[in-house]
Amino acid sequence: MARRLLIAGNWKLHKTVEEAVALAGDIAAGLMRDDLDVLVIPGFLSLEPVALSLSASPVLVGGQNLFWEDQGAYTGEVSGPMLKACKAEQVIIAHSERRLYFNETEKTAAKRVQAALKAGLTPLLCVGETLGEREADQTDGVLESQLAGGLAGLKPAQAEKLIIAYEPVWAIGTGQTATEEQANRAHAFIRAWLGACFGKQVANQCRILYGGSVKPENAAGLMRQKEIDGALVGGASLQAESFLGIIEAA
Ligand code: PEP
Repeated sequence: MARRLLIAGNWKLHKTVEEAVALAGDIAAGLMRDDLDVLVIPGFLSLEPVALSLSASPVLVGGQNLFWEDQGAYTGEVSGPMLKACKAEQVIIAHSERRLYFNETEKTAAKRVQAALKAGLTPLLCVGETLGEREADQTDGVLESQLAGGLAGLKPAQAEKLIIAYEPVWAIGTGQTATEEQANRAHAFIRAWLGACFGKQVANQCRILYGGSVKPENAAGLMRQKEIDGALVGGASLQAESFLGIIEAA
């Protein structure tokens, strides 16, 4: 079964509610393809307004993070049921910026993955090596430990719902994209790991997105790679023109 491409835009800490709704509207209005999935991931405050504004559009909406408890005395956190109530369908987990600036670990990634599944959200788990790790030939080992940690305790029936994003840290927001070959090789490694851990069917079903300075100019080449099932886009998702350009090129 062919995997359907997914182009996701992570808006990070950008856009007021009004700006986010306007951007979502421009993306929905300019979307000319129905043979792939499109996902936008605004900040929490914009989630529901964006989702409501997209209710007549095929564009999906997701969250940038979630906490593992459903409710309680956890000031500043957002839970899976809260995201779900705002009509989110996917949630990013363990983005490298969360690992770097907010001390997220494999252990907390695993708790978030479980919480997302419990809430009926699709976890979009981010993995990827730093430049130092790549140069020290540690890429496979890093990917393996991030996958084993973040997906600890999952059963195959749960794992088939996952989306993995391979995001080499050195390519995020730097303008330096992994080559098609580097990206495809890392994706193949991730798929083989999923196969060994959860079985071939799960591995064939899971979408693995590439993230790291994806632009309209490099999207076609990356998306043509056998193991690449879409893109997680940061900077270029903040303008409708460049995000739609990636979608068109994919
Ligand atoms: C990201 O943060 O997930 C990302 C891939 O960012 P950028 O496209 O800006 O490199």
